Amino acid sequence: MSDVSINTEWLSDCSGCHIAIVDLHEKILNVLQAVKIQRCPVLTDIKDYPHATVGLVSGAIRNEHDRHAAIEMRKACDIIIAWGSCAVFGGPAGAGNIHTPAEIGRAVYLDNKTTTSANPPSHEVSALESVVSPLDAVIDVDLYLPGCPPHPAFVFESLSALVEGRQPEVNKRSVCAKCKRSMEKTDVSQIKSNSDGLPNAEQCFLSQGYTCMGSVTIDRCLAPCPANGVPCTGCAGATMQILTEPNRDIRTEIAERMSRLTKIDRAAIVASLERSSKSHYSYTMATAMIGSKPTFHIKKWIEDENADYEAGGAA
Ligand code: SF4
Ligand code: SF4
Ligand code: SF4
Repeated sequence: MSDVSINTEWLSDCSGCHIAIVDLHEKILNVLQAVKIQRCPVLTDIKDYPHATVGLVSGAIRNEHDRHAAIEMRKACDIIIAWGSCAVFGGPAGAGNIHTPAEIGRAVYLDNKTTTSANPPSHEVSALESVVSPLDAVIDVDLYLPGCPPHPAFVFESLSALVEGRQPEVNKRSVCAKCKRSMEKTDVSQIKSNSDGLPNAEQCFLSQGYTCMGSVTIDRCLAPCPANGVPCTGCAGATMQILTEPNRDIRTEIAERMSRLTKIDRAAIVASLERSSKSHYSYTMATAMIGSKPTFHIKKWIEDENADYEAGGAA
């Protein structure tokens, strides 16, 4: 048995990152032979935080319990890995930052056709923080492993590298690098929604007028969605280029590519992406790297879209 021990913790998330451990299948035996898994909500019943060499933390900081658990993991573990897009960027929960905790409480517990509570719970559940934050907003993080969840190949490589005392070999390419669809210039002149027709199975979605986020998303999945007929929605988070270059932005980069591949006007594509920004930025909305970009006004775009929707609904 190696001297490497692992604690895992599960903050506000969907559990998918912990299930990815099980998806290692027989490879997990190699990991288990090399490390001692101590605290792990899906494998062990240990509630406290014993000392460990490595701490894998999935999930975003959404409530007081998440903050407490993250701090305890940092105290207990020599190395902390932000594990999955929720921990790295805030993940889907980050879309909650468009609303106040009071609005969310009302929507979930009161203004809801399937809930009959007279009052939202006050003391039974941990209070929501004012905003959703990625893990490194609360504790220091040593290694980032985005993905929703990270593909087992990347989980295995990261754990193996830690056990062997080397840097993980993970690429910095976009999802397009693993996608087999071909980018071709076409005469397509209109943006399509996913419900418009059946996309060609060989051609890049952008060439066909469908929004695909593969070119602005880091590959931590080996591109399963475009391989199975579905455009990438960016669940692994943005590429290093988008994150580190202040004037590069998800909507402008996609618009640039799609307008070159089709006859659709670039400005029309940007406007379309802004109208659906709650979807296109949902995985990374909570991170300061995206939220502080000079081109980024997501809250305003969403408020404008909501106002248009309500105006249309009231008419
Ligand atoms: S990163 Fe994705 S799979 Fe992992 S916990 Fe978050 S939502 Fe679930
Ligand atoms: S944009 Fe989407 S469909 Fe086109 S190459 Fe990239 S991942 Fe594939
Ligand atoms: S192709 Fe895109 S949406 Fe699909 S798993 Fe990969 S990053 Fe996520």
